[in-house]
Amino acid sequence: MRARPRSIAIDGPAGSGKTTIGAELARRLGYAFLDTGMVYRATTLAAVRCGVSVHDEAALVALIGRVQIAVSPPAVDDGRVTTITLDGEDVTWALRERVVDDNVSPVSAHPLVRDRLLGVQRSVASQGPVVMVGRDIGTVILPGADLKVYLDASVEERARRRQAELQARGVASNYDEVLDNLRQRDAMDSGRSVAPLAQAPDAHYVDSTSLSVDSVLQHIEDLVRGCHC
Ligand code: C5P
Repeated sequence: MRARPRSIAIDGPAGSGKTTIGAELARRLGYAFLDTGMVYRATTLAAVRCGVSVHDEAALVALIGRVQIAVSPPAVDDGRVTTITLDGEDVTWALRERVVDDNVSPVSAHPLVRDRLLGVQRSVASQGPVVMVGRDIGTVILPGADLKVYLDASVEERARRRQAELQARGVASNYDEVLDNLRQRDAMDSGRSVAPLAQAPDAHYVDSTSLSVDSVLQHIEDLVRGCHC
């Protein structure tokens, strides 16, 4: 019998469906799930709340040393796939607020910030089988991952999905503004010098633009079954 991949890395741009797909895949496989974007978002929220400039790398690193960011399975049945607490406070939905969307890319572009958050991410993978989603999982965090997927979709479709998600939560939003934020984050996340958003050479490319969540899941489950690991 073929062994199942123990570590599955899913990378891709904002709104490509990584979190929905990754969480459901982890649930079906009985694996842990880590959405690494949440870790950068929590750091950003902490900075905004504490008045730390998103351009001040040293102050951000000091802040990471002071605050407690914890990731755990969903504690409430309200559509979340993970619960994130910041110093004990449930900030899961606060991490999706506009102020975080607008500031997270500059925060995550600092090499020392990434360095400080790397250990937390790797330690999750060292504890057992995991599905981890982000920008640099297959290239930097888990370069030896057993299965790597690069999940993509057109920026217009990603903006449509993000807006539908906001609407479902009763958050007013404007399509053009959502599109603009995604374009800006794409440019910053792909253009930064450290750990840019990039497809690992050994990652399977999946374009989800015109695929349903179920079709994407089926495709990735086929890759899991066919994995030589
Ligand atoms: O995936 P999500 O959109 O929640 O990620 C928020 C931001 O966190 C991204 O735009 C990116 O700047 C940063 N990020 C990162 N590396 C990761 C995951 C997220 O730089 N592995």
